[in-house]
Order: sequence, then structure tokens, then C-alpha cells
Amino acid sequence: MICHFCKGELETSTTEYIEKQGNVVVIIENIPCEKCKQCGETYFSTAVAEKINDILDSAKNISSMLTVTVVDYSKAAA
Ligand SMILES: [Zn+2]
Repeated sequence: MICHFCKGELETSTTEYIEKQGNVVVIIENIPCEKCKQCGETYFSTAVAEKINDILDSAKNISSMLTVTVVDYSKAAA
């Protein structure tokens, strides 16, 4: 695979994903991804993208208070 933006080479890496929705901030850490060596753009596989959606859905249900939820992908996906 090559980078969609700069045609750089991708390498296996991990990244974090942050989503804010209303009062809930969800931070998912240690997500496996492909990262561009040149521009740093990250790419998720379909399976990982679906799992991220699952994690976000469940995390949003935890509380309606102002909340920051940190999820470790490697544990949530296990
Ligand atoms: Zn790139």
C-alpha cells in the first residue's frame, strides 16, 4: 500500500483516535494502523474501523456527564 495523499510508503504502526460528541470525549489508544512515512497520514483496515465504531458506541453509553473515556484498543479488541 502507498499513501493516498503523497504516495509515500506506509509502515505498520499504532495511533490514537479522539472523538468528541456532546459532553463525551472518547480517546482510543494503541490502535493498529498503517502510517505514511512521509506525511504521517494513518490508515485503518475495515475490521479496525468497524471495531472503533463499536468502541465509540459503547463508550458513549457510559455517561451523559462531561466525561473523558480512554480505551486501549489492544484490550477492547481482545
Ligand atoms: Zn503520505
